[in-house]
Amino acid sequence: MTTVKEIIGEMVAPSSEDIALVEKAYECAKKTHEGQVRYSGEPYFTHPAATAKILAEYGMDATTIAAGLLHDAVEDGCISRVNIEKEFGKELLFIVDGVTKLGTHKYRGAERHAESLRRLLVATASDIRVLIVKLADRKHNMQTLEYVPEHKRRRIALETLEIYAPIADRLGIGKMKNTLEDLAFPFVDPDAAAHVAEVRKLKTKETEDGLAKVRKELKQQLAKKGLTTFRTDIRMKGLWSLHQKLKRKHDDINLIHDIAALRVIVPTIEDCYATLGTVHALYKPLPGEFKDYIAFQKPNGYQSLHTTVVTPEAGIVEIQIRTEEMHRRAQFGIASHMSYKQLGKEVEKLEEKVQKNMFSSLSFSWIRSLIPSLMKVSKDGGGGSGVTKVPPWLAELADAHAEVIGSEDFVDGLKEDFFSHRVFVFTPKGDVIDLPTASTPIDFAYAIHSDLGDHLQGAKVNGKLVSFDTVLGNGEIVEILRRDGAHPSPKWLEIARTSLARRCIRSALGMTEPTKKSRRHRSHHVNKK
Ligand code: MN
Repeated sequence: MTTVKEIIGEMVAPSSEDIALVEKAYECAKKTHEGQVRYSGEPYFTHPAATAKILAEYGMDATTIAAGLLHDAVEDGCISRVNIEKEFGKELLFIVDGVTKLGTHKYRGAERHAESLRRLLVATASDIRVLIVKLADRKHNMQTLEYVPEHKRRRIALETLEIYAPIADRLGIGKMKNTLEDLAFPFVDPDAAAHVAEVRKLKTKETEDGLAKVRKELKQQLAKKGLTTFRTDIRMKGLWSLHQKLKRKHDDINLIHDIAALRVIVPTIEDCYATLGTVHALYKPLPGEFKDYIAFQKPNGYQSLHTTVVTPEAGIVEIQIRTEEMHRRAQFGIASHMSYKQLGKEVEKLEEKVQKNMFSSLSFSWIRSLIPSLMKVSKDGGGGSGVTKVPPWLAELADAHAEVIGSEDFVDGLKEDFFSHRVFVFTPKGDVIDLPTASTPIDFAYAIHSDLGDHLQGAKVNGKLVSFDTVLGNGEIVEILRRDGAHPSPKWLEIARTSLARRCIRSALGMTEPTKKSRRHRSHHVNKK
């Protein structure tokens, strides 16, 4: 059982209030889950305690760690939301509520909806900390997946691969992404996982020895340039990502050059390019394999120089060069900024920018959600000494976005927000269908299949029969009742919101010259009857 001392031990410079909050949440959650057991037979409380420790390891603030301790307390335990709010405040309740809500969306293995579900989760989360608690929760659940009944394991593992690992990736939390993938892989495809593990093991031995020599040689050369304060580490490619790459390379391990990569972590950006020069002077680079993710960072904020070189000692290897800050960000992503204690005025400036310019983009909506917690951290931090600036990449994103949006005002910006004009609804099986707002059961039916739309008899929302002009809301479960004899009526054209539905209705009514494709499609159905 993870002790409260272990959790606090992982926290970055906690204040006495931070410690008191975590201790209180620990005791409360422990009491709440008393008597409950996990599939493993362990006390249930081992789970929230482990989740909280993961959050502490990822540098999260005390409120988030406390929320991790209490994340299952409302759902499974007997503590009420009112009591949580009274004891721990609105903010913590907000995170716990968010995590609970996310738990209701389940992935049923329909790949076409994976992207919608990922978006839905990101949208519902609305505070980035909700997602991070959910990821930590998922990590511990994956670590204990072997105890879960067999028929549930695969679905949970698939959901982890398709939904949660990509979210971790999008948030730039590379460490979490790889961990989740490699925990899930053996449950999704045990044979392939064993095969890839074997292949990687063979390669690891041979490259590790070689890389040690490369490292030594590089160290000597860098010292000549006066660069002595750097460190290296060897990163092995994750099993799942290696598996994906092997599939692309026809299972030929010799075509994969980044199974092992040597990471060189240096103090400054200048040092990065100097190191790159040294590397290329020592070893011949493979043409076309050099990538400057410092000048051109990945959308999730990842930065590094990547080059693939031919070494006499280790054959073809990838070398990644980055600063300490880039390294931290590559592992913890958005989470790495949660532990910033002092953010000073920069945050306020950024918030202004965000207010003006950043309401309209899907990819940046998470930055917006990050702002309140940054603000809070900066206030709590107090002092004012050693002010840490807003991470430059975050500020850059704000700038980059400002250019795209120009001077559009808040309302206009809001209209463009993907989530402000989409609604996510579910099939009874839990598939997510995303539709424009003001969509109706008619749109829903046609979004699933034109045949279902053409034979729409009735619709249920959350189990209750509704009229066809009912506007669907986020998270509702919609069931379509189908009857062979049912047929679209002209009135449907006024009700349907999507052009897809309207096109199909018109075509079914024989109103307009349908496209070749849909005409064929129609006659096919007519013939069937
Ligand atoms: Mn949980």
